[in-house]
Amino acid sequence: MLDGVRGFVFDLDGCVWNGDALNPGAAETIAALERAGRALAFLTNNSRATGEDVRRRLHALGVTAARHCLTPLEIIGETIARRWGVSRVLVIGAAELAAAVARAGHEIVDTKDYRRATVVAVGNDFDLTYERLTAASRAAAAGAPLVAPNVDPRLPLEDGEFLPGCGAIVQAVAVAAGVRPVVVGKPEAPLFRMALERMGLAPAAAAMVGDSVPSDIRGARAVGMRAVLYAPGGGAPGEADVVIRSFAELATLAGLA
Ligand SMILES: [Mg+2]
Repeated sequence: MLDGVRGFVFDLDGCVWNGDALNPGAAETIAALERAGRALAFLTNNSRATGEDVRRRLHALGVTAARHCLTPLEIIGETIARRWGVSRVLVIGAAELAAAVARAGHEIVDTKDYRRATVVAVGNDFDLTYERLTAASRAAAAGAPLVAPNVDPRLPLEDGEFLPGCGAIVQAVAVAAGVRPVVVGKPEAPLFRMALERMGLAPAAAAMVGDSVPSDIRGARAVGMRAVLYAPGGGAPGEADVVIRSFAELATLAGLA
């Protein structure tokens, strides 16, 4: 079913890895795909890591085929510039998010100066305080557009547990401000398109492999890619083209085994 696919784009959290551990067979199947000449890209909605951070982490875990790694931090600064020009941005989130926004030429506004903000960027924030939540909500309510790397509700961990995701914080701000966020990451198209461009493939020649129907499956289908749902517990294909329970099954479907 995936015989003609020339490139695979892998989601990371909940698919290639959970927390700090690779899922069973992920390293082996990805290495076999590379040996078979398939193009590879890795796409995560992570709001605290650059593509280079992710590439290094994959290599440290033994996924040495990882070259093209994309996160919303690659494009959030440019997205803000294109939509609203060079801006004064209030950032709620990791230092990496603020750095990515600043790299695109925007001014980072201090929390207590939230009234000066013309854009509010909200990512996952492990040091979230009520003061920061208040500043972001008030700035967004006053008219500064709310932009987010993703609106994923959870961050899956290796033991089946989870952390509240970026989406949980974005929703808190959006609800308080009475606004809707502009989303940069999956399921929106830009990161999928960038992955295809890096692989040099048309959408129909590539497949997205991920564990999230709203983010990976819908996003991939919307740009014309094939969509493979990674569901270790099994399940019906639904909106996906195919469901795999394991990476070994992916190798078989890709014609490698
Ligand atoms: Mg995932």
